Formats: sequence, C-alpha cells, structure tokens
Amino acid sequence: MIGFIPPVVAALSGALVGTFLNTCIDRFAHSGAIVSPASVCQGCGRRLSKLEKLPVVTYVALGGRCRTCDVAIPPRYAIVEALTATTFALGWWYYGPGPLVASRLLLGCALILLFVADLEDHRLPNAITLPGIVVGFAFSFFAGPGWSASLGGIVLGAAVLLLVAEISRRLRREEGLGMGDVKMLAMIGAFVGWRLMLVALVMALFSGSAIGLALIVTGRTGRQHMLPFGTFLALGAAIAVTAGPTLVDWYVALW
Ligand SMILES: [Zn+2]
Repeated sequence: MIGFIPPVVAALSGALVGTFLNTCIDRFAHSGAIVSPASVCQGCGRRLSKLEKLPVVTYVALGGRCRTCDVAIPPRYAIVEALTATTFALGWWYYGPGPLVASRLLLGCALILLFVADLEDHRLPNAITLPGIVVGFAFSFFAGPGWSASLGGIVLGAAVLLLVAEISRRLRREEGLGMGDVKMLAMIGAFVGWRLMLVALVMALFSGSAIGLALIVTGRTGRQHMLPFGTFLALGAAIAVTAGPTLVDWYVALW
C-alpha cells in the first residue's frame, strides 16, 4: 500500500520541476523578458492566478483555453510538465534511491530543456550544455560510468560531431551542425560514457532521418529545410539510457 507513495511524490516534484524548466525555456528564448509568458495570458495580458499556474491540472480543467478571453494556451507548458513528471516517476521506480537516479534526472531535465529550445528556437544554450559537461563528469566518479568512460564520452562526442560538421560544410558548402550540437553530445557523453553516447548518436541519426524523410515524402517540408538536430540528440539519449545497455549487449554478441 505504501509502495506507491514514493513514485507519486517523485511525479509531483517532477511536475514542479517541469514548471521551472518552462520558465527557463522562456528566459532563454526571450532573454530580457520581465514576465515569463507562462504567468501572463498571451491573448488578453491578464496575470494568471496562483491556482491557474498549477502544473498540467489547470490546462486540462480549462480545456486549454484562457478563462476570460478564450484564446488557446500553448500546449507546450503542460507537455513539458507532464513529461518531467513521468521522467521523475519512472526514474525513481527504475533506479531507486542513490546517486545514479540523481545523475539520470539531472540529465533528463537538461535533455527536456534542450529538446524544446532547439525545436522552438533552434538554440542549444551554453548555459545548459557547458555546466552539463562539468556536472556529468563530476557525477561519473560516484554514479557511474567512471571518470575515464565519461572523459572518453566528452572527447569522442565532441570530436565525432566536429568531424561530421566539417565534412558536411565542405561537401554541401552550408552550415549543417552547429557548435551547440557538438557541446550537447559532449554533455551526453559526460553523463553516460562513450559507449551509450555512441548509441545516442546512432539513434539520433536514425530518428532524424526517418522523420525528415517522412516530412519530405508527405510534402510537409523541403529537402533544404533543416530539422533541429539537438531535438533528435535528446530523443537518442533518452533511448540510449533506457534501451542502450540491451542494444550494446546485442551488438557485442553479434560479433
Ligand atoms: Zn486571456
């Protein structure tokens, strides 16, 4: 009976952290904004009450519309809160208490932030990726995967994407990957080590190509339109930490 309480508490803390992540995303996107868009209605400019700022619940209760002017509320706020709540609940359930769950949840928050920031604004803020590399490396000493695997992940992650960026720049004479992607993969490598970092990269390339191809085939976008790679790196890293160890075992057994 008591067993379900910790995951519920984890989910509630996750929802609150999600609200904070939303504020961070708004700050990065509209730097210098005095009030974050999350606390003011974008339709009528009315300040939202404390009750209306409750994660997810308000969005569902109001049917995704403002109480006074009926303008549609962007679903991103509720989605980020629900996603962070789910991440916290699943993380707690899967890893249990210890340094590893702290490391994984910190990585999860950074990934959710970068996923949305790259999707909405095509930006991967240094304020997340650079401290992320340091924190990931620090955690590697006591939460795994060990400092050498973590350092390997940082160096190899940055090197691989720098090489890909240089090749694509020479072949297509255009900027494909940005330095933000390079720092983001280095951050992922710092947290999960070089093996799972490579799994994350392969998964990002797979999902990026699949979705890019689907968009071209359905005529939603042209060939020249760049999909934000950081969004797919976040997706790839999420797959790597959940299914990665199984995938690595399977690949090694293949040889
Ligand atoms: Zn309104």
